[in-house]
Amino acid sequence: MRDDCLFCRIVDGHLPADVVHREDGIVVFRDINPVAETHVLVVPEEHIADLRELEPSQADLWMRLTRVATAVATRLGHEAGYRFYVSAGPGGGQTVPHLHIHVLGGRMKRFPQ
Ligand code: AMP
Ligand code: ZN
Repeated sequence: MRDDCLFCRIVDGHLPADVVHREDGIVVFRDINPVAETHVLVVPEEHIADLRELEPSQADLWMRLTRVATAVATRLGHEAGYRFYVSAGPGGGQTVPHLHIHVLGGRMKRFPQ
């Protein structure tokens, strides 16, 4: 938990979010600025700054994050499929330095910047 990290503060309940799913070590909440009909963020509770920091020892966590992405997309009506993307580092357009998977379902309003 980092006091200066936006998503750590959401995970800890210090900041509000529209949480759609929560399970051991993982939280999913709606993006505040959605670019598609459904736009949720799949977030590990543990502070991992970005995908480039993920270690082989966290392979199980990564697998669980991807499965939660599919489960939530399906539950929200996107059993036909969804978009999945991760921005990694400022060069990849990442604005919140706490690992998160974007899950986009349904009609796209615009493409992510
Ligand atoms: P990225 O630019 O890939 O790091 O994605 C960060 C995402 O977090 C953006 O799509 C933002 O709209 C979203 N975001 C920023 N602040 C919040 C917040 N307080 N609650 C939910 N989503 C947020
Ligand atoms: Zn964090």
